[in-house]
Amino acid sequence: MSGETEGFFNDDGTPVNPSWVSKPGLCVTCRHDNDPGQEVFCALTRVDQQGGDGFRCEAYGKLSRE
Ligand code: SF4
Repeated sequence: MSGETEGFFNDDGTPVNPSWVSKPGLCVTCRHDNDPGQEVFCALTRVDQQGGDGFRCEAYGKLSRE
């Protein structure tokens, strides 16, 4: 344990810098990508699924190109 108490952490307690987690392709087509109000939620979702098979997000909203 690093002793840090703020930020993002893996299940084993190691700190994770969200900027080191690659952005899934699904996020690039989502209207919430780059929304400051969704920043923490999106970071948590990406950190939680890093290294997993595929990427799923219940909050996904297809980006409108109008
Ligand atoms: S809401 Fe989900 S799919 Fe959309 S950008 Fe955030 S993490 Fe990605």
